[in-house]
Amino acid sequence: MKITFTTQSPEQTEAVGYLLGSVVPRGTLIALEGDLAAGKTCLVRGMTRYFAKDAPVHSPTFTLVNQYGNDVPLYHLDLYRLGGPDELADLGYEELFDSDGVCAVEWSERAEGLLPEDRIEVKIAHGGGDCRNFVLVNRGIALPEDLEARITTRLQESDATTVVVD
Ligand code: ADP
Ligand code: MG
Repeated sequence: MKITFTTQSPEQTEAVGYLLGSVVPRGTLIALEGDLAAGKTCLVRGMTRYFAKDAPVHSPTFTLVNQYGNDVPLYHLDLYRLGGPDELADLGYEELFDSDGVCAVEWSERAEGLLPEDRIEVKIAHGGGDCRNFVLVNRGIALPEDLEARITTRLQESDATTVVVD
């Protein structure tokens, strides 16, 4: 499945993140690629709202990994400042990537070759102004058949000032 969509505001990106958080199966890794300020953290922020309502979300720049929620945790990794594969090992990446929780990995290309083959890939590109173009591909991960339609609906519902959270 390959889904493409465009968001026009951070709120819309968060709204899609929330929706994504609600449909990804446990144990899924989501590999996020895109330049600085593409909206990777913004998408994850929406996901964390599903996993742990009201938790403040920061890019895990210094800790490399943050955890949200307890039952099915969402692990948020940002590999931007990754020094090398050793640091990834210190982080216990194998357990994180293999866990029952959901793993969202910014700058996942820095862990190329270590990522599970079955994963969701999200590529984000700046589209000028507040436009962000998304391409989502799921490899070996089951997602609802109507996900694209649900994203479209969600984007129509959410305007520039409203975050839709259910
Ligand atoms: P990344 O994690 O990819 O570096 P962030 O999510 O931290 O990016 O930052 C995205 C920046 O772009 C934020 O400042 C946000 O306000 C801005 N922005 C503008 N339009 C959008 C959009 N449509 N989606 C996401 N972020 C947007
Ligand atoms: Mg980020």
